[in-house]
Amino acid sequence: MKVWLNGKLVEKKNAKVTVFDHGLLYGDGVFEGIRAYNGKLFQAQAHIDRLFDSARTIRLAIPYTKQELIDAIGETLRANGRKDAYIRLLVTRGEGTLGLNPFKCPNPNTFIIVDDIALYPREMYDSGMAVIIAKTIRTSARMLTPAAKTMNYLNNIVAKIEAVDAGVAEAIMLNEQGNLAECTGDNLFVVKDAQVVTPPTSAGILPGITRKVVLDLARKLQIPLAEKDFGPDFLYEADECFLTGTAAEIISVTKVDGQVIGDGKVGPVTRRLTDAFRELIGSQQEG
Ligand code: PMP
Repeated sequence: MKVWLNGKLVEKKNAKVTVFDHGLLYGDGVFEGIRAYNGKLFQAQAHIDRLFDSARTIRLAIPYTKQELIDAIGETLRANGRKDAYIRLLVTRGEGTLGLNPFKCPNPNTFIIVDDIALYPREMYDSGMAVIIAKTIRTSARMLTPAAKTMNYLNNIVAKIEAVDAGVAEAIMLNEQGNLAECTGDNLFVVKDAQVVTPPTSAGILPGITRKVVLDLARKLQIPLAEKDFGPDFLYEADECFLTGTAAEIISVTKVDGQVIGDGKVGPVTRRLTDAFRELIGSQQEG
């Protein structure tokens, strides 16, 4: 496997950064997860834009242009002979001294890994998955905006541990107000009375690229939709629930905290949106 590291393609075993990188010392950096389907990047511009937005939030100057990074991803895919892949692009703060000051790190480290990802087992996509609502709440925007995709994922990891302890694959996280925000690595949707409902970005979430694609598809299919705040009761009483993410795509949730959602099967609106999503991906021409 070849990894793109600061402008060069290197073998995986040589893809190394120093232990003095603040990405490692403090989780100081930003990243993106992007998919390539049939040789074409899916929503590349949106991902690169979000990477730069995240970097601006933490005052990190990315040492490449957006186009240079898109070209670098293409180069890495080709070097690994891949048309379908999960791409991880990171920009760390780089090497510095011990101590937090990020401005003592003059050279960010940028790297691109192309690999596979299987977040959830295949059968979960057919039968739906069970999740919990975590006790750990999502980081508030007044602490560090969840809209920035930083390398500091411990808030999500602690909630993920709750999920694993409960024997399920994902956890939904509440915000400070007690409304549902998002999952540890996916955005949240429910369907109630034929309307698709998802928490607004003001709920303190990562503005997911897949979330936006799904909202656009719902509009195109003329499925009523709303971005609004809601609490756990609205979810327990929902007809359908599903999660969206670059790695997960669209996955149905059929049980929350041991309670069955709707009729406990993948619902018709989830199916329609999943079919439309697959069609969109399938229509991607090589490029
Ligand atoms: N929320 C969080 C916390 C995430 O890590 C992700 C995955 N990047 C998402 C939502 C889904 O976002 P996207 O559709 O852009 O992958």
